[in-house]
Amino acid sequence: MNGALLIGGDKVTTSSGGTYEHLFAGTGRPNATITIAGAAEMDAAVRSAAEAQREWVSFPVDRRRDVLLDLADAVRDHQAELSELNTHDYAVPISMAGNSVLTERFLRYYAGYADKAHGLSTPVSGGFDVNLVEREPYGVIGVIAPWNGALVPVGLAVAPALAAGNAVVLKPSELAPLAALRFGELCLEVGLPAGLVNVVTAGAEGGDALVRHPGIGKIHFTGGGGTARTILRAATDNLTPVVTELGGKNALLVFDDANLDGAAMLAAFQGPLGQAGQSCACASRIIVHHEVYDAFLEKFVAVVQSAPIGDPFDPQVMFGPVVTQGAADRILGVIDEAVDRKMGRLVTGGSRLGGDLADGYFIEPTVFADVDNASPLAAIETFGPVVSVLRATDEDDAVRIANDTTYGLNAFIQTNDLTRAHRVARRLESGSVWVNTFSDIQPQGPYGGYKQSGTGRAGGVEGLHEFLRIKNVRIGMG
Ligand code: NAD
Repeated sequence: MNGALLIGGDKVTTSSGGTYEHLFAGTGRPNATITIAGAAEMDAAVRSAAEAQREWVSFPVDRRRDVLLDLADAVRDHQAELSELNTHDYAVPISMAGNSVLTERFLRYYAGYADKAHGLSTPVSGGFDVNLVEREPYGVIGVIAPWNGALVPVGLAVAPALAAGNAVVLKPSELAPLAALRFGELCLEVGLPAGLVNVVTAGAEGGDALVRHPGIGKIHFTGGGGTARTILRAATDNLTPVVTELGGKNALLVFDDANLDGAAMLAAFQGPLGQAGQSCACASRIIVHHEVYDAFLEKFVAVVQSAPIGDPFDPQVMFGPVVTQGAADRILGVIDEAVDRKMGRLVTGGSRLGGDLADGYFIEPTVFADVDNASPLAAIETFGPVVSVLRATDEDDAVRIANDTTYGLNAFIQTNDLTRAHRVARRLESGSVWVNTFSDIQPQGPYGGYKQSGTGRAGGVEGLHEFLRIKNVRIGMG
């Protein structure tokens, strides 16, 4: 496969950033040659985006809405193809690769805002003077995406950015650009102005050039906290505003009144099994009331051990590899250190898979029980199929442990007690709380972090407002 850049409507295969040989994580074998953008290509992309944005804001707003609805239709019609590309990208099992559904929903939802992003008029102390508070696009938004599903920030960020009247330079990671590049082509096929959505794959160097480009109105970054700090420093040169959507060390609280079969299923797929734990929403700290601790642990481990593992393109498979050899080495290092330093009791998993899967980067789904929340295992985002189970003495203790983290992206509650669900949800320091359900992000509700999990919100009118700036216009009436 060929991962050409998409700049100003043209496919670009010769670039100052060279090329990257992409390996399929399921086999460790090459599956694509990816063109990497350098500073020159970033400059070309920002310039073409600025030009396209001027055309885009001249569209009547209802036409802007209709084109975005056409784009949502195109994403729906190409769902199978986009899912396959997701699997080529980061070897997410094809049975779980359908995140273009989320992209489509966000596009459809925000298309409806294209003609509703209104300001307001306020009374002022100037007789009949008119005062208008207007919302305007920033111009060009730089969207920096993580490798674990670039179509997610396409929905969460690109959709509202376009609806608000901006152009976008989308920078996927070189580890997973293929689905994003196909999305860029769909934008052209439905009639978005060429250059309105440029897709420029790059690593840190090209990303840095994008952040520092003076033509960027705002950066929307999804990724890790360390990278966020680097980007925030780089953005100070031009005082470019940055929205951050970062990682989590998400707590899942299982109370003594919960349906334990349901809780075990949810904890397994929200935890180590979903995308092999490589998800910002991974429930990596499972905090269980002591009275149901042993019963839950037994059920949970049984579900974890039953997941079909294998070729990510096999539709029966639910658990795939981690993204690179480097990620596999890092995660195995976390496991070894946790065992050596007795951070918890290894209950299942802990090794790299061999046999037919030895060439891929497969690590067994891994569960540690009796983990101390103060240990690095419970404190640091592993971003792999490794979760901790922790014991809580009562509700207060469970909430204390859940909040005792630098992160605050997602929290999950398993209970059948309605008042407890509300009470605990209010006490959790987390941008999203999910009661008896998965982290099924919907465009109608804002998603984002507390604490070191980021500052942005995606979804709802809050998500739209990330891409609009405020202008006050006072008209003197003489
Ligand atoms: P990462 O921080 O390594 O990279 C993210 C993106 O930043 C990539 O495109 C990368 O090429 C780019 N980048 C790296 N250095 C850069 C620089 N100096 N300047 C500009 N861009 C640069 O993260 P990752 O490994 O790709 O993704 C995993 C992280 O993302 C995890 O922490 C995960 O929790 C988080 N994440 C968060 C959300 C959310 O919605 N909150 C969603 C998905 C992933």
